[in-house]
Amino acid sequence: MATAAVLIPIKSFDVAKGRLTDALEPAERAVLAERMAERVVRAAAPLPVFIVCGDESVRAFAERLGARVIWREPRGLNAAVTDGVEHLRGEGVERVIIAHADLPRATSLAWVAKAADVIDGVVLVPDRRNDGSNVMCLPTSADFVFAYGVGSAAAHEAEAHRLGLRFEQRIDADLGWDVDTPEDLAPDIRSLISITNATTYPPTEPAPKATSMTAAQNPLTPAAVRFTHGTSNLPTPERALAIGAHPDDVDFFASATLAKWAADGCEVSVLVCTDGSKGTWDPDADQADLIATREREQEAAARAFGATGEVGFLRQVDGELESTLVQRAQVAHWIRKLRPNVVLGHDPWKRYRLHPDHRNAGLLACEGIVAARDPKFFPDQEFPHHRPDALLLWEADEPDHAEDVQGFVQKKYDALLAHESQFESTMKATNDDELNVFRARVLGKLEAAGAASGFDVAEIFKLIDDL
Ligand SMILES: [Zn+2]
Repeated sequence: MATAAVLIPIKSFDVAKGRLTDALEPAERAVLAERMAERVVRAAAPLPVFIVCGDESVRAFAERLGARVIWREPRGLNAAVTDGVEHLRGEGVERVIIAHADLPRATSLAWVAKAADVIDGVVLVPDRRNDGSNVMCLPTSADFVFAYGVGSAAAHEAEAHRLGLRFEQRIDADLGWDVDTPEDLAPDIRSLISITNATTYPPTEPAPKATSMTAAQNPLTPAAVRFTHGTSNLPTPERALAIGAHPDDVDFFASATLAKWAADGCEVSVLVCTDGSKGTWDPDADQADLIATREREQEAAARAFGATGEVGFLRQVDGELESTLVQRAQVAHWIRKLRPNVVLGHDPWKRYRLHPDHRNAGLLACEGIVAARDPKFFPDQEFPHHRPDALLLWEADEPDHAEDVQGFVQKKYDALLAHESQFESTMKATNDDELNVFRARVLGKLEAAGAASGFDVAEIFKLIDDL
């Protein structure tokens, strides 16, 4: 990967954000400007940060955060950026990420350099009005003529083409949120003003997503999400049971929905059909260890998204799950025992699905319900028969039900990131950069499902409520 650095031009905190004069006192504007800039500097990690400025208080700010200063007398944003890029080229930096300082929801910038590396060109993250150039990464060797100001995203795209550079625009809801006008001051952003201890942020909960990227815009997202408009947002069930083939399937496909219900008092339980013993790329891995590790991880994941019910394991051999009367009785037992109002599972009829465990786990969820609901099936079982109200199938061939998961994306990350043994083989994320790409991919899927179903972020299912 080319050497990269982040360049942030900051004129001054005092005169910053004149368009906010009606909404904020001058002192508040200055505090907000500094707090937002701090978010951007922190989001640059692990890349080095250079701040172009000609202002003593900005210099002090940069030094406090360990950023380098490129000192220039103020003469406009385009000149400041041009000088900064030239300086970095002189220092041997090959790719520069130029970031505005007013991105209060910035959490990660390094992925932009990675994306630029992949296409070997220019990557631009526009503001959410698709007008400004909030973040842009380009080779320092290009004699790029900057055109910050109104319409800069289009101007910068034209400039990239003029220079014969490949160009890609990437939508990012967090980086797309800059603060120009009072309407931009969402509550989480206003709250930055009143945070007195600068070391307490970034807050652990990310800001709620305010914009959504469409599937077509987000390269990490499948091109299209099929969704037939049907229903959305079931009433929070009293009890829910999610049945996955492997440890982590429930978290991949339903944990944001389950987190939402759990937060509203639903007793969420998880049942995993296989032992996960093939979930490794290491041919020498001890499978007994792996099984134990994955069970612990699944329990941690369920707690991470807020589940308060049971986490059960059928411990069938990974890759060899069958859907026979034996397993059907086991699933019926768990349904009768836990008495869920809603059961969730894999769609066994998803076309072109290769993995037999996912198909069979899906069949078991369906057939387990049929067996559980009728008293004459497995009449010797310990618990009385039980009929759930609804079945939600994830990864559905014909999804027709959406659950709005706004506010529960972080819980989904938390659940997924509990599966540490899977970082290499499934998440393809063994360092911070890759984890950010992974998070972006998860978010992209939620946003694509949301775009298809009328929400910012959603998990979508096939709903069967005639059980
Ligand atoms: Zn799986």
